[in-house]
Amino acid sequence: MPGLLSCVLDLVFPPACAGCGWPGTLLCEQCAREIPRIDPASACPRCGAPGSPEGGAEGRVAEGPHACAECGGRLFAFAAARCAARLEPPVSRAIVALKDGGERRYAGVLAALLGEVADGWLRADDALVPVPATPAAVRRRGFDHALDLTRALGAATGLPVVRLLRSAPRSDQRALGRGERFANRQGSFALAPDVLAGRNPLPRRIALVDDVLTTGATLDAAARTLRSAGVGEVRALAVARSMRDAGSPG
Ligand SMILES: [Zn+2]
Ligand SMILES: [Zn+2]
Repeated sequence: MPGLLSCVLDLVFPPACAGCGWPGTLLCEQCAREIPRIDPASACPRCGAPGSPEGGAEGRVAEGPHACAECGGRLFAFAAARCAARLEPPVSRAIVALKDGGERRYAGVLAALLGEVADGWLRADDALVPVPATPAAVRRRGFDHALDLTRALGAATGLPVVRLLRSAPRSDQRALGRGERFANRQGSFALAPDVLAGRNPLPRRIALVDDVLTTGATLDAAARTLRSAGVGEVRALAVARSMRDAGSPG
């Protein structure tokens, strides 16, 4: 965002820290330091869940198909996943402020967090693809939060942002259990009209971007659609990792 515009926005809508409420900043330095970041070295490479201290030597997730309690060794349509932090304050509050509070400036804050964890993981030939919000959510909010997030990450990394997917209507994920979420998500994404018309060629490698990963069902469905269309490799990036049955969508 240009400096002048952000100054004007600060005057009209003064920000407050998502962690402690301190005025004049979206996230104060102390709250930024205290973000419950997930260490990629000990996280599950399949689903991005943080490694537990009892997970093995130095907290590393033990090798083997059933090592991770979160994904249970399940294979997803995405080849790997990485998440920046646990879905806890101040990250959870920043996500709510972005999605439900309409405070779009948090897209940049969250993208910076994503950029930290994606450094060295994203490759020069990756294209960033947002997981599109439902049409109902876009109507409600007036914008697509995942697109904002992806664009901010694209600006920070220099990687191209490509809108390859559109969301198909479905029932609300939050009312469903773990297994039902996967069933509900089947076929819930389709290729964007531009792609189908051949105007937007498919990249060979894609990093999907979303705000929260809970069961992996949403990113799995998005990755499945892209893989079926012929994309060679799809990986998943999410700002926050919500643990099992925490009650958030996707
Ligand atoms: Zn703070
Ligand atoms: Zn896992």
